[in-house]
Amino acid sequence: MNDETAPLCVTCPRALYDDEHGRYICRPCERRIDEDLLALAGPSGLYARLCLRIQPGRGTGGPVVSGTRGASMPCNELVLSLTSNGGIVSMLESWVEDWASYGLAALGHGGRLQDRVDTAVATLRLNLSRAAARHPAIDEFARELGQCAREVEILISGERQPRRIPVTCPCGTISKVTLSTEGFTCRTCGSDYGHREALNLPMAPRAAA
Ligand SMILES: [Zn+2]
Ligand SMILES: [Zn+2]
Repeated sequence: MNDETAPLCVTCPRALYDDEHGRYICRPCERRIDEDLLALAGPSGLYARLCLRIQPGRGTGGPVVSGTRGASMPCNELVLSLTSNGGIVSMLESWVEDWASYGLAALGHGGRLQDRVDTAVATLRLNLSRAAARHPAIDEFARELGQCAREVEILISGERQPRRIPVTCPCGTISKVTLSTEGFTCRTCGSDYGHREALNLPMAPRAAA
């Protein structure tokens, strides 16, 4: 039964089904988080591919002197900050620590940055289903992870123009948004999405775009 008091998923506007009650997020949202995690890890994952975009000889010899004060961070510096300790790896590890305090993750043992990324992703994926039911900040995690994955995808593709990203409304309709979208209304079901909600919708497969 879907009545008006059915609890909502905390990361999308969908009401939880009966068999999802007791969870914070719906199963499609859990799947999207899992896909984002999976996409980041491994030798051909987003993190590894972003590392390949570091241009040698820049930003490695101490403070970078920039002649364009006030300009946005050059692409290479952004790539460096995301791939270094303190970037993506630390974002993931701080969630691992947070989840561990709920008994939902095991802390890693250091190692190379790529190993740390892979270890963090592995423990988060392993515990994701339980976290979907038990971690009250799962929405914050989903948002931060999703934004990170989108940002890396854009850096890897090297696109400067706002890319139109196909996202899927829970009703199944695909809409295209940009990272700077202010929001949109689904043309099929009329759901309204703000900036964050729009970017948090699951990405449609490229073939469907
Ligand atoms: Zn959801
Ligand atoms: Zn819709």
